[in-house]
Amino acid sequence: MASEEQVKNSAFDTEAANCLVKELRGTVVAGKTKSYEWRVSQLKSLLKMVEERDKQICDALFSDLSKPEMEAFIHEIALIKNSCKVSLKKLKEWMKPEKVKTTLSTFPSSAEIVPEPLGVVLVISAWNYPFLLSVDPVIGAIAAGNAVVLKPSEIAPAMSSLLKKLLEEYLDNSAVKVVEGGVPETSALLEQKWDKIFYTGNGRIGRVVMAAAAKHLTPVVLELGGKSPVVVDSNVDLTVTARRIIGGKWACNNGQACVAPDYIITTKQFAPTLIDTIKQELLKFYGEDPLNSPDISRVVNSNHFARLSKLLDDDRVSGKIVHGGQTDKSSLKIAPTIVLDAEEDSLIMHEEIFGPLLLVVTVEKIEDGIDFINSRSKPLAAYIFTNNKQLKQDFVSNISSGAIVVNDISLHLMVDTLPFGGVGESGTGAYHGKFSFDAFTHKKAVLHRSFLGDAPARYPPYTAGKLRLLKALLDGSIFGIIRALFGFS
Ligand code: NAD
Repeated sequence: MASEEQVKNSAFDTEAANCLVKELRGTVVAGKTKSYEWRVSQLKSLLKMVEERDKQICDALFSDLSKPEMEAFIHEIALIKNSCKVSLKKLKEWMKPEKVKTTLSTFPSSAEIVPEPLGVVLVISAWNYPFLLSVDPVIGAIAAGNAVVLKPSEIAPAMSSLLKKLLEEYLDNSAVKVVEGGVPETSALLEQKWDKIFYTGNGRIGRVVMAAAAKHLTPVVLELGGKSPVVVDSNVDLTVTARRIIGGKWACNNGQACVAPDYIITTKQFAPTLIDTIKQELLKFYGEDPLNSPDISRVVNSNHFARLSKLLDDDRVSGKIVHGGQTDKSSLKIAPTIVLDAEEDSLIMHEEIFGPLLLVVTVEKIEDGIDFINSRSKPLAAYIFTNNKQLKQDFVSNISSGAIVVNDISLHLMVDTLPFGGVGESGTGAYHGKFSFDAFTHKKAVLHRSFLGDAPARYPPYTAGKLRLLKALLDGSIFGIIRALFGFS
């Protein structure tokens, strides 16, 4: 058995992180990751990995979160497969330089935007979708031709060790590495100079990541969270609305999802009807004893269980529970819980819930919902259920959020032609589909000139005639150019 001293020496520290980055930089400098062939081979291997090891992936998700197989498959495995397939299908097109127009002032010339890999990038991922949130950015990094280090979340330990094992087995280890660990290991990584840091997690650590990146002027993508609202109008198909809200809240990792509804806004008058329908549908989905339903994930660990219990136990909240509220500390389960009109100064009204509790906030008029949302930080997603065309339009044009979905929840992340990311407190940068490729690519501006057309007017000695000519040229005025050439003022 290794002595304590040996274990200490083998810890992943700043020096180890430095060696790791040096090794990867060597791979990048050698040009290995840049070729189309290398990128395709890695993406194909990733796809093969997911196809061959789906059972192990589901098992790890069950071990970390009791995630039902259906959710594991649909929300993590299928999305990663699709991401690999889209990248493989489109990669050639994405890698092509894009010809762009030039101006009269550079005539004769041609111009293009050449996508180039950034170099060596770091991906730090979160625990709630520990497979998806780790592998999806890695797909983007590889597609864009980078070497990449993945730091999975220590809060999902089964998935963290599986990712280390699988990525080492399936991918090119000279360009793709997995570093497991928590704060010390991540801090050692963050001290290094990266060409991009892609972080998924909460905004508090997002600030730590951004500060570390600033030291090296490293660009970041921050995939953060926040309180995502759902406005529900009274003219909706009630059953479909209730089912979709349940689907996006409790059937997505029991509310532990960045785009899960955090609170509903509806009118005082309509709230009882809406809540009753949600209750009826919850009963159909999870039965009388939801704590023992196999179709609902558990809370990830005792810290998060304590955090959520504290939100509920608050005096300003506990009396406002209108559904659920059952908890089981030993199994880390919390039943789907609805809280109606919690006190404005309670913690639950301000902190991201990130769990099975759903707030209902009532307003006089449904239109007031827009002001309520705008009085808080910009959310990662904002949802509205309505048949009112004007209200839909007002919602889309007046709410600033990472995304807006009308009449459903969370489905936007299935659409790989849409960017996925936040704005303001909910994050910066985006990915998915081509946006993932772009997130890890530098778009290099290239202007081609020949030795022809060397206009003397651009060189000293400067004269009034030359100035007239250059002004006309920069204005793009053919008439002005002719006048200047003929010496007219
Ligand atoms: P987490 O605890 O797994 O932390 C995320 C990562 O940060 C981990 O890899 C962890 O090791 C690292 N980390 C933790 N403390 C650190 C420190 N002091 N220094 C450096 N690194 C550190 O995940 P979390 O933050 O609990 O995740 C939940 C949050 O993430 C929620 O706010 C949620 O909305 C957000 N989220 C966003 C997305 C998205 O795609 N936008 C997806 C999932 C979760």
